[in-house]
Amino acid sequence: MIKDRYFKHYLIPNFGREKQELLKDFKVLVVGAGGLGSSAIIYLATNGVGKIGIVDFDNVDITNLHRQILYSPSDLGKLKVEVAKEKIKNLNLDVNVEIFNFKLNKKNYDILENYDFIIDATDNIESKLLINDICIEHKKPFSYAGVNRFFSSTTTIIPGKSSCLRCIFKKIKKEHKDFGVFGTVPGITGIIQATEAIKFRTGVGELLTDRFLFIDLLNMKFRISKVNPDKNCMCRKN
Ligand SMILES: [Zn+2]
Repeated sequence: MIKDRYFKHYLIPNFGREKQELLKDFKVLVVGAGGLGSSAIIYLATNGVGKIGIVDFDNVDITNLHRQILYSPSDLGKLKVEVAKEKIKNLNLDVNVEIFNFKLNKKNYDILENYDFIIDATDNIESKLLINDICIEHKKPFSYAGVNRFFSSTTTIIPGKSSCLRCIFKKIKKEHKDFGVFGTVPGITGIIQATEAIKFRTGVGELLTDRFLFIDLLNMKFRISKVNPDKNCMCRKN
């Protein structure tokens, strides 16, 4: 067997070369190139996802560096999407990268159409709900995640098949307070999002649908809550 970059994948019985090949034409859009996005993007790229789209409007700031592992001190002030694109090229030349230097909104969301799976790596509830609603409308599977201090949560949503964010968050508080975030929390959570994307494409294992994972790194506890789709939710009416 040829020992290429993915050799250790070929040794996994229910993964193998056949599943690896499926990733070549898999297209994932990552919305937000911060802490979650950095970690998700790096693992999508090293694992051979054929096309990665990145949406972000921000520049690299000194306060990003403890968790946004795509960026180095020499990148300060540069556009995140451009640095990210360059970094992916260094990681894996086989990955095609498309960058969008804007904030996703109701006027530009048609970019989602060209992707198979969306990773919500944004840092605010308005963007998360927007991604939820667009993905439900366009039947795009996606991974949600949110981080806060030592804690994070994540779930995977397959429109038409699983519960959506609005089923889970019946009452939504739109708070903008910055609670801080511990450096490793978005790292582990973004890796879970990248794993869900790859599992979706390859069909291996069980996705984190209708289940909400809470991660508490302070006390090292991982808890999963079952979520039941809400019959009256907008996601059931599509
Ligand atoms: Zn719903």
